[in-house]
Amino acid sequence: MTDSADTGEKKKERVFSGIQPTGTLHIGNYLGAIQNWVTLLDEYECIFCIVDYHAITVPYEPDEMQERVRQAVMLNMAAGLDPERCTLFVQSHVPQHTELCWILTTCAAWGHLNRMTQFKEKSEQHKEFVSAGLFAYPVLMAADILLYKASQVPVGEDQTQHLEFSREVCRRFNARFGDTFPEPEPIYSDVPRLMGLESKNKMSKSLNNYISLLDDPDTIKEKLKRAAHDPARVRRDDPGTPEICNIFTMHQGFSSPEEIEWAAEGCRTAGIGCIDCKKCLTKNMIATLEPIRQRYQELEANPDKVNDIIRQGDKFCSEQAEKTMAEVRRRMGLR
Ligand code: SF4
Repeated sequence: MTDSADTGEKKKERVFSGIQPTGTLHIGNYLGAIQNWVTLLDEYECIFCIVDYHAITVPYEPDEMQERVRQAVMLNMAAGLDPERCTLFVQSHVPQHTELCWILTTCAAWGHLNRMTQFKEKSEQHKEFVSAGLFAYPVLMAADILLYKASQVPVGEDQTQHLEFSREVCRRFNARFGDTFPEPEPIYSDVPRLMGLESKNKMSKSLNNYISLLDDPDTIKEKLKRAAHDPARVRRDDPGTPEICNIFTMHQGFSSPEEIEWAAEGCRTAGIGCIDCKKCLTKNMIATLEPIRQRYQELEANPDKVNDIIRQGDKFCSEQAEKTMAEVRRRMGLR
C-alpha cells in the first residue's frame, strides 16, 4: 500500500473502520459489515484496524489477546478484505492512537459522552467494574478515524451515535486550532438486521445462537434445520409472512434474486414448505462460507504471510499517523 498523495495518482477518499478482535465471526457480522466493506474496496482507499485498545475496555484474558488479534486479521482476510486492495493493521502497534485520544479528550464534552447509549448498556453488563476507558471509548474511536483523516466511515445502526460524537469533536478541534481534519461522513448499508437462530435476540457469540463463518457444511445444515421460522407456519399448507421470518432475512444475504422471489412467493402462498426453503438457503450459505473456511485454513497454515501483512499495514499506518500528529502538535503549540 502506498500513499496516493505521494505517487501523484488521483486520490481516492479514505474510509476507516475498526474491527473488534472477538475471536470468531458469525454470519451477522459478515452480512452486516464485511460484505459491505468488500464493496468499498475499489471505490475508496480503505483502512481496517483491529481495535485491541478498544477490546481492553471490558474484562478480557491477556493470554488470549494475541491470538484473538491474529484470528481477526485472518477471518477478515478470508471473508474478502484482500490486503492487496486495502490496509489491515493493529491499533496498539501505532501508539499515536492513544496520543491523539488524550488530546481529543480536551475537545470532548463530558455531557455528550455521558449520553452514549452503548456506554450505558455495557456498564450494565460489567457492573462489577466500569472503567473510565469504557466511558472514553468514543474519544478513542474519534482518534482512530481522525488520525488517518478518513472522510468516510461505514457504520451500523449501533455506531451512529459514536460517529456523531466524532464529528462534533472534529468540529471543535478545527474551530479551536484551525482546519485540520475532514468531518467524517457515515456510509450506511441497508442490510436487514439478522436475528439469532432462535429468532428472539440479535445474533451473537455470547448467546450461542449463531452460525460461524468457520462452521463446516454439516454444522450449518444442522443449525439451519433447527432454526426458528415464522411461527404462523405450523402445517405445510399454512401461508406465512416472509418479512418476519429470519430464514428469509438470511436468504436476502445468501441467495440469488430469483431464489429470494421463489422463497417469498412460495411462503405467502404455502407453495413451498419450510424444509424446502431451508434446503435452498443451506445450499447457498455453504457455497458462500465454504471458500471462506478454506481460505482461513490456508492462512492459518501460513503464519509468515499473515505476519507480513500485519507488518506492512502497521508501517503504512505508523507513517500516516505520525504525519497527522506532527501537524496536530504544531497547531496546538506542543512543539
Ligand atoms: S417458507 Fe421460508 S420464509 Fe416462509 S416461514 Fe418457512 S422458512 Fe420462513
